Amino acid sequence: MMSSVEQVESTPGQSWGNARSVSVLGVRIDRVTQEEALTFIEERIRRRRASGNRLPCCQVATVNPEFVMEARRNPAFRRVLDETALNVPDGIGVVWASRYLGQPAPERITGTDLIPALAERCAIHGYRLYLLGAAPGVAEAAAARLCSRFPGLQIAGTYAGSPDPAEEETILERLAAAQADLLCVAYGAPAQELWIWRNLARLPVAVAIGVGGALDFLSGHKKRAPHAWQRLGLEWLYRLYREPWRWRRMLALPRFALLVIFKGRGRHSQA
Ligand code: UDP
Repeated sequence: MMSSVEQVESTPGQSWGNARSVSVLGVRIDRVTQEEALTFIEERIRRRRASGNRLPCCQVATVNPEFVMEARRNPAFRRVLDETALNVPDGIGVVWASRYLGQPAPERITGTDLIPALAERCAIHGYRLYLLGAAPGVAEAAAARLCSRFPGLQIAGTYAGSPDPAEEETILERLAAAQADLLCVAYGAPAQELWIWRNLARLPVAVAIGVGGALDFLSGHKKRAPHAWQRLGLEWLYRLYREPWRWRRMLALPRFALLVIFKGRGRHSQA
């Protein structure tokens, strides 16, 4: 039987492969561990370098219940999530849904955890990281913290920019000059996923990941939930406590749970 990593290596193009995924209300979630996700990303970087940077960029999404609910009403976003190379289960709600549907995702994988783990590998192997998005100064502060944590880390660039199509050319020019291997895009969902998808063919990197508010946390501009809250699956509650204005967006969570319970086990879990 093929190991997960061998399986990834045998699928050089897009997608992890359906054998290891679960459909949560019609959105594909790849049932990978964080270690497997890291290996997948690192492998793409290694291969692109080996190909003389000819291997096209692939997209990774960190999917939470708000993504799933947005995908139900936004066909363009849904199509993007169909086509990504890897959709990791961010959000305890998605992990819970995968278990409820009988195809459990092994663990929660957040952008805020992925970035430092990737930065560590980048520092070891000399891969170059670009941080795009968040408010002005935030990506720079996150980069400084990552560099002091992982000596030798090469930051190819940082830029706030905006997901506005009018700014696309400027951002692509900056990226072309930066010679990055890995791009983290922090414009929030669905803007960041749509941005990456629109520009995928022109992105001069091996992997582009939508990371939501991760740079706010990594820079120290926002406080992340304590580990105990995270372990209890209550990071969302802590976020609501710190940022009560999110309550309307977070109504997606109970709606998501009810839909999974009442419709999730239907044919193809499309609901
Ligand atoms: N953001 C941005 N430009 C925009 C909209 C959002 O740079 O036009 C950034 C924002 O500063 C934040 C991130 O995108 O750093 C979105 O964070 P949010 O917490 O909303 O994302 P989530 O983690 O909920 O997906």
